[in-house]
Amino acid sequence: MDEQEAQQRAPAHALSPEAALAQYHSDPAGLDAREAGTRLAAQGPNQLPQPRRRSPLLRLLAQFNNALIYVLLASTLVTALLQQWIDTGVILAVVLVNAVLGFAQEGRAERAMEAVRRMLAPMASVLRDGQRQAVPAEQLVPGDVVLLEAGDRVPADLRLLSCHGLRVQEAVLTGESVAVDKDCAAVDAGAALGDRGCMAYSGTLVSGGQARGLVVATGTETEIGRISGLLSSVEPLVTPLLRQMSDFARWLTLLILVFAALLLAYGYFVQQLPFAELFMAVVGLSVAAIPEGLPAVLTITLAIGVQAMARRSAIVRRMPAIETVGAVSVICTDKTGTLTCNEMMVATLVSAGHCYSLSGSGYVPDGQLLRDGAPVDPATEPVLAPIATVASLCNDARLHEQDASWSVRGDPMEGALLVMARKLGLDEEELRQRWSRTDAIPFDAGHRYMATLNHDHRHRACVFVKGAPEKVLALCSGQWHPDGAVGLEREYWRSRYEAVAAEGQRVLALAMKPVPDDNRVLEFDDLDDGLLLLGLVGLIDPPRAEAIEAVAQCRDAGIDVKMITGDHAGTATAIARLVGLARPEAVLTGADLDQLDDRALIEAVRDTDVFARTSPEHKLRLVMALQASDMIVAMTGDGVNDAPALKRADVGIAMGRSGTESAKEAADLVLADDNFATLVAAVREGRRVYDNLKKVIGWTLPTSTGEALTIVVALLLGATLPVTPVQILWINLITAVTLGMALAFEPLEKRTMQRPPRRRDEPLMAGTLAWHILLVSVLFPCGVYSVFSYALGQGYTIELARTMAVNTLVVMEIFHLFFMRNFYTTSITPRAVAGTPVVWLTVALVTLGQFAVTYVPALQQIFGTAAVSLRDGLVIIGVGVALFVIIELEKQLRLRLLRMRGQR
Ligand code: ATP
Repeated sequence: MDEQEAQQRAPAHALSPEAALAQYHSDPAGLDAREAGTRLAAQGPNQLPQPRRRSPLLRLLAQFNNALIYVLLASTLVTALLQQWIDTGVILAVVLVNAVLGFAQEGRAERAMEAVRRMLAPMASVLRDGQRQAVPAEQLVPGDVVLLEAGDRVPADLRLLSCHGLRVQEAVLTGESVAVDKDCAAVDAGAALGDRGCMAYSGTLVSGGQARGLVVATGTETEIGRISGLLSSVEPLVTPLLRQMSDFARWLTLLILVFAALLLAYGYFVQQLPFAELFMAVVGLSVAAIPEGLPAVLTITLAIGVQAMARRSAIVRRMPAIETVGAVSVICTDKTGTLTCNEMMVATLVSAGHCYSLSGSGYVPDGQLLRDGAPVDPATEPVLAPIATVASLCNDARLHEQDASWSVRGDPMEGALLVMARKLGLDEEELRQRWSRTDAIPFDAGHRYMATLNHDHRHRACVFVKGAPEKVLALCSGQWHPDGAVGLEREYWRSRYEAVAAEGQRVLALAMKPVPDDNRVLEFDDLDDGLLLLGLVGLIDPPRAEAIEAVAQCRDAGIDVKMITGDHAGTATAIARLVGLARPEAVLTGADLDQLDDRALIEAVRDTDVFARTSPEHKLRLVMALQASDMIVAMTGDGVNDAPALKRADVGIAMGRSGTESAKEAADLVLADDNFATLVAAVREGRRVYDNLKKVIGWTLPTSTGEALTIVVALLLGATLPVTPVQILWINLITAVTLGMALAFEPLEKRTMQRPPRRRDEPLMAGTLAWHILLVSVLFPCGVYSVFSYALGQGYTIELARTMAVNTLVVMEIFHLFFMRNFYTTSITPRAVAGTPVVWLTVALVTLGQFAVTYVPALQQIFGTAAVSLRDGLVIIGVGVALFVIIELEKQLRLRLLRMRGQR
């Protein structure tokens, strides 16, 4: 076997980077787009197979696998034996409607989750045609050159080509939770997976450093593909509340069945009622009492919420978040990009002698330089060239022009520095050709600076540094002067950067130092000595107009907003003031936080809204301190080190655009547009969803209990049933698919964002809602019996009296629905009375159904009904109105009482 053949067969980890590139017919500058397209067509997408979905038929059949359905099917068997064909037919219809409802909710929930998953599809940074591009990870092909940085999820199996301090967490593959260091040295062909230091495997997380890697396997060919072979399936749409309600419904079913059996025995043995009649009554009672459709309607309510949030760019990753987000009492938010636009522009330059300002707009590299207020030619200012050089070379961003519109690839702040350099007359591409980068220390929120080592063609080498002024100043031992180095005027620089920060500008300091040409590696120690400060740069980043409004909304909604930023205290205060935070002046810095013990911290965070120069570790302490004060905390984050705080927060929120994959994975919610206003919209949607869940429950439970009580009372008293079992089954059938669903679609109630957040431990079924359920459960049978006795008193036939009773029940349900729509405010406003299309559609459908049952002769036969006169129809509506008035009055009294208590 010749050497070339041996290499062909060698695994990528046993090859040198060059040999690996050759084996995959690639190049350090990556593939060109055409070749990538050809390979993608031949190789298929970089995707793991989706879990197979069950066929629709199987999913429909699965709906019948449910205790209640078994009971109902057993009942149809008994009624069929008793030759009660109509009853058998109606019960079967109830079974079918329930199955279809369950099927529909599952479909809707699955679609909602699928859409969410698609929105979270990861992107990869890849070199194509020599340019850095972000492409969907599924489009990667073997031979692509991928760029990795801290926080990324490795998108395919990679042979590393170059590394700077790369550390990868490989727990998914090896079970080892400690991050391992990577380098480019080839290892033995037989090395175990965990020992292949030159490989980064698909699905693992980059916890630090930067690297370039060659894609050697994609999709099912990757190591993770071989192990699991499947994508993790979509998370089911369940929340604690839903689980609680499903359990509740299951227990209730059991209880009702036991009660029904006792009632059956009591009626048969004690009251000696005929079995067939009694059995049907008990079945009717059970179907009425069991809220069989409730879990399905609740799931639909959640699915609608998930979809509505996704439409507003808030992607729910973990289902419980949709409930919790509505209860949030404090939002801890990042500044840059969330409260501000993250469209940076350099506005100020400070040198040892002067202060310059630079005009312009966006990323267009045109602008005028003013020195101390007067226009000046940049070429006449010697310090500006080195400033622009450092700003351009200690920089990973790219400027991009298309159709006269300029944009940035990479960090917007670095983009703004490139624009600045161009305004000062230096082109970064030209600079990059002249000064090639040999090594780098990437920016990290911990050390807050970035440094590069660059060499030029004339064998000169320089270290370039940019970063937070305090940090850079601490590293510098002198300042640049056209004639050489001079002593550092620390006080001058400190007062300068504080003045620029106080204007709300983000300040960076730029520094450099020449080093011997043979330096090829850059270490932290290399910055310790001889660094010369060049100047300061101030960048403006205007606050988002919608964030200002959203902060005001939070205030109305009783939600505290706290800004946690890595930026300077001065900048943070200025921006906090602009966006309208409650207490912009009271600032705690990361250093202050380090001084406080946990107890003092709990006190301090309550009265502070701005936290500056913090590191990700501070976020975790802040979350815990706020939670200790019983706050429900939403925390935003984007960096690799934000994951613990996001996990710990009640609602962890990651940024979709600027966020790392590891932040997104730790988060419950992802904001696709990084916007604070979207976060507040998610809170609003969360409150709506929770209210609607409550409304669905508050409508369904008294309805079913009221219907059941109507029958129970008659059975216990041995009186005539005001509603026959078939009629009860009918009502269940028609209202389940109409009124029962309407509340899932309810829009936000008017004052929802003016209510304080609900308490963490607020039980759903206690208090107001429980009382309401009880009240209406009793009022329903009262209404039915009043109309029934009235009809009998008028000498009507029993059929007519029952028809009136049935219609009364339905009319009361409709009025109750209108009441439930505004559980927290008055229902007698034009807006409330106007209803929504969904409400009117469902009301129209039920009304149509009731008219049919009341007036169509064939249906009269089946349901034992008789035509109702207009006058009696008005009586029925009158009872509905009476119910509405009673419960509305009770609500108004309750609200007034609450307000009085609140005022006191
Ligand atoms: P915010 O909350 O406003 O988004 P942050 O917490 O993300 O801010 P960092 O990005 O950690 O803040 O930045 C903290 C400081 O580090 C900045 O004020 C700036 O001085 C410096 N800095 C930020 N990005 C870079 C970079 N790419 N290179 C060098 N220094 C940087």
